[in-house]
Amino acid sequence: MPFKAPSWVPQLAFDPPDDVSICDFILDDKYARHPLKDSRPPFVCGITGKSYTGLEVKERIQHVAAGLSKELGWLPNDGSDWDKVLCIFSTNAIDYLTVAWGTHRLGGIVSPANAAYSVSELAYQLKSSGSQCVFTCAPLLEATLEAAKEVGIPKERVYILEVPGPSAPKEFKTVDQFIDEGRKLQPLEKLVFKPGEGARRIAFLSYSSGTSGLPKGVMITHRNVIANTMQMCTFERKDRKNRQEKEGRADPTQVALGLLPLSHIYGLIVIAHCRAYSGDSAIILPKFEPQSFLSAIQTHKINILYLVPPIIVLMTKNKPLLDKFDLSSVINIFTGAAPLGEETAADLLTQFPSWVVAQGYGLTETCTVVSASKFDDVWLGSSGSLLPSVEARIVALDGSEVTEYGVPGELLVKGPSCTLGYFNNSKATFETYEDGWVRTGDEVVIKKHPESGHEHLFIVDRIKELIKVKGHQVAPAELEAHLLTHHAVNDCAVIPVPDADAGEVPKAFVVKSPNVGLEESDRLVARDIQRHVEKHKTRAKWLKGGVEFIDVIPKSPSGKILRRLLRDKEREKRRVA
Ligand code: AMP
Repeated sequence: MPFKAPSWVPQLAFDPPDDVSICDFILDDKYARHPLKDSRPPFVCGITGKSYTGLEVKERIQHVAAGLSKELGWLPNDGSDWDKVLCIFSTNAIDYLTVAWGTHRLGGIVSPANAAYSVSELAYQLKSSGSQCVFTCAPLLEATLEAAKEVGIPKERVYILEVPGPSAPKEFKTVDQFIDEGRKLQPLEKLVFKPGEGARRIAFLSYSSGTSGLPKGVMITHRNVIANTMQMCTFERKDRKNRQEKEGRADPTQVALGLLPLSHIYGLIVIAHCRAYSGDSAIILPKFEPQSFLSAIQTHKINILYLVPPIIVLMTKNKPLLDKFDLSSVINIFTGAAPLGEETAADLLTQFPSWVVAQGYGLTETCTVVSASKFDDVWLGSSGSLLPSVEARIVALDGSEVTEYGVPGELLVKGPSCTLGYFNNSKATFETYEDGWVRTGDEVVIKKHPESGHEHLFIVDRIKELIKVKGHQVAPAELEAHLLTHHAVNDCAVIPVPDADAGEVPKAFVVKSPNVGLEESDRLVARDIQRHVEKHKTRAKWLKGGVEFIDVIPKSPSGKILRRLLRDKEREKRRVA
């Protein structure tokens, strides 16, 4: 029997619709939890204060879609979604979602790329997703042009998403220009989804390495996004109402921190879609920088901080800096994307006893949140309860089904936000998706709270080959393939090792090439290998865990690297030390 969302979790008022697109769902007053016309501005720039009202956002989406349609020849009902893939490679911006929803308005697909990517990493995603054009911001323009050239996207198909700071050269078309042009054009025909189409049509192609191998495009449908938005908002509805009543406010909406990258599924769904649907404001910040982060909380009186564990660690270590800011508006912290240590949460609560530190758990493959803490039911260390309409199975290492509390095993989940699979990769899809169930690659236990009796999900380990550095995905296979291009590397394996600030960092085990001279010191060779990564890969992938030389990489008879063995040895070594 699968575990189900407990009965005290509110159920969805209606099934996530499969005959509307995301933007119709979020922006149409028929569905929106809080019609945009009455709400706060959905996205506010945390640096300049610039924002658009809900109605203006709606208009901007229509106009940007019309402008893009003229430029690219894309039409809402032309049945050619896969010829309409648009990549967004930018730091957070108030118009990030204007471009995404404008693309959806045309029946197109958005592939969000991590703004920290190097040229080769971006080129990989552009090619693999079949992107036909890219929106980027001025600081990333040079890298974008290089990557676009590498994959044959012409310079004229590189456009600019405005962010605070210097503008891009005038020759590149901006979102505002598209909107100005679109405003003068005939309105576009309506995008029509027949019943069931929303569950098949792809809205986002987000990259994740899944349980093994290289990053792959996860096919996220319109209904997946609508479902998780409804699941999250239904789940938190009571908390919001309780708080509103306690504080005697007429308005249930709140102000949220929009710092986490909108290119990652957590930022994209929990911050962008859920906040817009709820009528909240997200205060958009382009990157993490302690002063601007704290000053945005103070200036915009932010109530809820969406964070990842490394930022919480930093907060607990910088009390004197935090004391300089008025953070009294904050009520809740919500963390996810990587495990939050119980001690870290406790440290933060010592500093801010009135805050609630809630944790969510999810994956790109499940279009984000599977479980979360209710604000009045937090059990430190747990990732809360299953969201409405989520079913979970736990399979023990010996393959048997776990039906008891406290017994660990791999988590499999099913629900309306579970995605369709990996684009152009049936092998990986087959390995991860099974009859509607998604294998998470995470080892979990479900425990009953001794007082409330409520079931809570605890993530105890990661079985899959994934390293999470500050919440960012690092695929060992990608790093290993890169390391093999270094002249001193004959064979290698990469594993995660714990790091106090980043959560985890990659460490490489290397078998040296016979052509490395005996006189070359290990230290210098190791440093050269590290530099080889630093030159080509984003910072999260740097070998901060070091390089260790070994004689042979442990492998199974079929040649599969036994990373688990190396991980266990490393853990033992660190435990003894
Ligand atoms: P991503 O697709 O980048 O969101 O990565 C998903 C993976 O991040 C999960 O499979 C987990 O391994 C990890 N993860 C996400 N949330 C949590 C959490 N609250 N605790 C522990 N690990 C998490």
